Amino acid sequence: MTTTASGRHIAAAEAHSAHNYHPLPVVVASAEGAWMTDVEGRRYLDMLAGYSALNFGHRNQRLIDVAKAQLDRVTLTSRAFHHDRFAEFCTELAALCGMEMVLPMNTGAEAVETAVKTARKWGYRVKGVPAGQAKIVAAAGNFHGRTTTIISFSTDPEARADFGPYTPGFEIVPYGDLTALEAAVDDRTVAVLLEPIQGEAGVLVPPLGYLAGVRALTAARGTLFIADEIQSGLGRTGRTFACEHEGVVPDMYVLGKALGGGVVPVSAVVSSSDVLGVYRPGEHGSTFGGNPLACAVALEVIAMLRTGEYQQRATELGDHLHHELGLLAATGAVTAVRGRGLWAGVDIAPERGTGREISEQLMDRRVLVKDTHGATIRLAPPLVISKEDLDWGLDQLRSVLDAAR
Ligand code: PLP
Repeated sequence: MTTTASGRHIAAAEAHSAHNYHPLPVVVASAEGAWMTDVEGRRYLDMLAGYSALNFGHRNQRLIDVAKAQLDRVTLTSRAFHHDRFAEFCTELAALCGMEMVLPMNTGAEAVETAVKTARKWGYRVKGVPAGQAKIVAAAGNFHGRTTTIISFSTDPEARADFGPYTPGFEIVPYGDLTALEAAVDDRTVAVLLEPIQGEAGVLVPPLGYLAGVRALTAARGTLFIADEIQSGLGRTGRTFACEHEGVVPDMYVLGKALGGGVVPVSAVVSSSDVLGVYRPGEHGSTFGGNPLACAVALEVIAMLRTGEYQQRATELGDHLHHELGLLAATGAVTAVRGRGLWAGVDIAPERGTGREISEQLMDRRVLVKDTHGATIRLAPPLVISKEDLDWGLDQLRSVLDAAR
């Protein structure tokens, strides 16, 4: 293995980088659209799309063009000064969300941290929760990021072990269970924080009516509904936001991943002026959050989403994907298929192999996917994938599962 370029790279990565990931043994050198090419020149169909960070494909021309143009003007000012892309970015993103204000950050976890801090400050300053007693209710099986506070309300032992002491102030309820949520929300509750579809958990779609129920409950109890749409949002499910499938508008969107177009990390909390208006200078911030390059790329992402083209592709290709996966389920090769739009969690029948084994066999057939929770593989190709390429990828999945019979 160490005689090849890939092998040498992997050996060096294993020697000199922390082993907090277990990547498939493929070393990407370039990419375009839905395809990646490795250091040996082999081409692979990307059916993961950076966990939805690459909704618009690798090196989307519109995004690369605006990034290059911005690189030639100004890239970073810090928020100590205004810059000429900032106001437009905040105005356009707020409008896309049907909200009023934006607080930009960089990574998803930072945006979730920002949402937690915002909800607490709103709770003390607006709702009147006694000092130090704010509670946030989250769902079992959640994935909101990797910071110390966020893993404090994770239910995944791998994500939590040996990272304590944990941040207090969170209560966990089963995902999809409105009765449990109703019991958990009390006078101290400042927010209910949920993924409208739980991505890392295996693309779990809650029962129909759940999100609308959460909306009604939080409105009635005067608590914020925070939708973490970092993975589900910005076109992936066939709508700009997954909450739209139930006609729900939360009090706060948390966005990331595709907002940066796969070019730069861009995340944001988007909400009303009642909520984000609680901040005073110095209370929160980020050196890179809302930088000119990030704003320029995100503005183009917003313009692309406004065309509706990507949402439509996700709907049409997603219907096709789920139809084909349904046929596969009927053969017994997979035991469950979940998802919405161009996004699926597929549970592999145990006798055909683990999610990891199937992912490795797909890699040998030049298709890249990611396993989760042992038996599941996740499919989330770029929304720009062609139907032919999607069908080819599905053919490879069928072949791998057939061979494993
Ligand atoms: N929230 C959700 C729903 C996610 O899927 C992720 C990442 O997978 C995050 C938050 C964390 O984002 P990041 O990895 O950019 O910190």
